[in-house]
Amino acid sequence: KLSVRLATVAKYVEKGAAIADIGSDHAYLPCYLAKNVGIRFAIAGEVAAGPYQSAEKNVLSEGLSDTISVRMGDGLEVIQPGEVDCITIAGMGGALITSILENGKDKLGSVKRLVLQPNISAISIRNWFLGNNWELVAEEIIEEDGKIYEILIAEKGDPDNPYKTNKDMGLLLGPFLVKNQDAAFRKKWTAEKKNWQRIYGALEGAAETAETIEKKQELLNKIKLIEEALKNEE
Ligand code: SAM
Repeated sequence: KLSVRLATVAKYVEKGAAIADIGSDHAYLPCYLAKNVGIRFAIAGEVAAGPYQSAEKNVLSEGLSDTISVRMGDGLEVIQPGEVDCITIAGMGGALITSILENGKDKLGSVKRLVLQPNISAISIRNWFLGNNWELVAEEIIEEDGKIYEILIAEKGDPDNPYKTNKDMGLLLGPFLVKNQDAAFRKKWTAEKKNWQRIYGALEGAAETAETIEKKQELLNKIKLIEEALKNEE
């Protein structure tokens, strides 16, 4: 059975889509999509030999070799121009996901939708969308086995569109997530706030330097954004 995390990614892949799942590991996501969503075609991309072999084995044993092409390579280099209209990347840090997109820009021409699940630093993905004309169109936040995950969906469009009210808050916390105020969202940011307050306290005890002053101001700004976002509770 697919994890809630990957099932949430799968929700945003449409029937008939041609997808590339980059960093596919065991290829659970493309296998699920081929069996349950009716995608036209999938590439399972992997840079590492072990995961690549595990993907090949699973695709073969599921009898899905006609639909899923397992390919070894770095990031989007496994895609031929025009081959896919949707890219999924899940289970990596936000910075690694954006570097994969940045390095593979020439492969994004035919791509209509990105479905990304960063384990950390969703803000770096939102920033990359802003700079590259991708419009964030939906976000989800879920909790599974004590961990909280964010899923970001983007399409080509006006990248400023989601940030009309408070850009800094939207970039850090996610404009759709701020609006929805899910339990997982409140839990995540309550914990982050506590953590940043603890670091702030430790800096207050340390000798004051230009660096600590700047760091403290940065922390205060972020703590304020969180407090503002969390007080929207009815
Ligand atoms: N996507 C799966 C999931 O969410 O369950 C697997 C996540 S796994 C933690 C991350 C995978 O990404 C690893 O198998 C790793 O080899 C692969 N990976 C890391 N960097 C990559 C890159 N530049 N190109 C392709 N795959 C990469």
